[in-house]
Amino acid sequence: MICVSIGRGRHRHMIAEFHHLVDEGAQLVELRLDYINGEVNLKRLLNDRPCPVIVTCRREQDGGMWKGSEKNRQLLLRSAVAEGVEYVDLEEDIAAEIPRFGKTKRIISHHDFAATPGNLDEIHRRLCRLDPDIVKIATMANHWHDNVRILRLIDQSEIPTVGMCMGEIGTPSRILAARLGVPFTYATFHHERALAPGQLSFSQMTNVYNYDLIRPDTEVFGVIADPIGHSLSPLIHNAAFQHFKMDRVYLSFRIPREDLLEFLTDAPDLGVRGVSVTIPHKEAVIRHLTKIDGAVLGIGAANTVIFEGDKSIAYNTDYRAAMNSFDQTMGFVPGSKQPLSSKTALVLGAGGVAKALVFGLKRRGAAVVIAGRTESRAIELAKQFECQTTTWERRHTVKCDILINGTPVGMHPNVDETPFDQNYLRPNMIVFDTVYNPEQTLLVKQAREKHCKVISGVDMFVSQAALQFKLFTNQEAPIELMREQIKRATGAAKL
Ligand code: NAP
Repeated sequence: MICVSIGRGRHRHMIAEFHHLVDEGAQLVELRLDYINGEVNLKRLLNDRPCPVIVTCRREQDGGMWKGSEKNRQLLLRSAVAEGVEYVDLEEDIAAEIPRFGKTKRIISHHDFAATPGNLDEIHRRLCRLDPDIVKIATMANHWHDNVRILRLIDQSEIPTVGMCMGEIGTPSRILAARLGVPFTYATFHHERALAPGQLSFSQMTNVYNYDLIRPDTEVFGVIADPIGHSLSPLIHNAAFQHFKMDRVYLSFRIPREDLLEFLTDAPDLGVRGVSVTIPHKEAVIRHLTKIDGAVLGIGAANTVIFEGDKSIAYNTDYRAAMNSFDQTMGFVPGSKQPLSSKTALVLGAGGVAKALVFGLKRRGAAVVIAGRTESRAIELAKQFECQTTTWERRHTVKCDILINGTPVGMHPNVDETPFDQNYLRPNMIVFDTVYNPEQTLLVKQAREKHCKVISGVDMFVSQAALQFKLFTNQEAPIELMREQIKRATGAAKL
């Protein structure tokens, strides 16, 4: 079950959000009395309540907004119990002051906004001695493994425990706890108004992650990155899982560089069966896996890891997706001459995506010239794959059949930028922009005006995700559905 926290300054706004949430399917709501400006009218908030509530009133030291006296705060909590609220949240130090009464269930809570402390078990034992119906522990995750520690605590606890890590690194714990049968998890009314760091909105929890359908044997997938930003991968993979009614969920894991090995070690025990890999882990991840696909070895980077028993296997679907896009655009028929073999490609950028493309182009016999903003990086890449280089300033002088943008130039919000002057675009040139947000970059628009053949970043993104989906599930991906999701999401990003 999801408990949605509401914190509003005015009673009427709190009540309106409460009713709206219940209309949207919420079954439990936390009323954060500390957010109310001025005197709290408890009866007004609780009368005719459309679903059970948790009443909480947090002090500043526990991450709350309460400005009144401690005496008045405890009076308010006692009154809530007297009113017969379904749950009251009591911090460890006041739990003994507010005795059990009537049918109100007691949540005894502990918050640590700085870290997930070493003595987690001891804190839990202390809370369990304070007559709880439910124990709640929320701690800040500074390392990936903090999630695992909190999940183990939930798993081993005899008293129902709602445990979660806060912060972006801790967000997975809020969803993975569902596999352990926690009584509920917390979500916020709106994703831009989180009441605790790393909290997801009710809509994200239900529509993206399908939280209420997660069971102990739900298979877990995800993307590992740092920063995680607004990755579109959870949106499209979860939509695809839901389309086929698969018992699978796809999460965003923010994994700092130094935590990568620990994540790979922990993942199988948490039910993780596969992950997409992105910046900064694409190269480093290879060192820690048991099996590496040939393309990964050639490129030196992986974007997918599959866990199978005690094996972890690396793949690179970026490379395959990019080559599939060329095959489609150039009308390649297996068994016929590879059309790329007689072509010259100019690749802008010398980072991860450029590397995957250069590997594929060279493998298919194309001549490749690399232009990088940092010349040394371009030279290094060219050496690895026996290509030519030119300086960034002289890129327009290269006579090429194919132009590839492997830089982020033109990406949202810098949509008025292009890495290549339109005066040098020629009809029938193939222009491949790897940027996928927006799909219609300035480069793509200008290339279409000049009658070039265009491959967009969305084509490649959907194709690499579809290949990952196949690796995750052994089933063909619902490509059109994935494309729709990404178009809708990137369209929204422009507003
Ligand atoms: P990366 O490893 O950080 O490499 C970025 C490259 O772009 C570097 O060579 C960098 O040059 C260059 N660059 C950055 N800003 C530049 C600027 N203002 N002018 C000129 N060059 C610039 O990143 P990546 O993973 O390769 O990603 C690059 C792009 O590909 C991103 O837009 C990403 O969204 C896109 N991508 C798309 C897909 C897809 O499926 N469509 C998949 C992966 C990536 P320096 O070395 O000088 O920093």
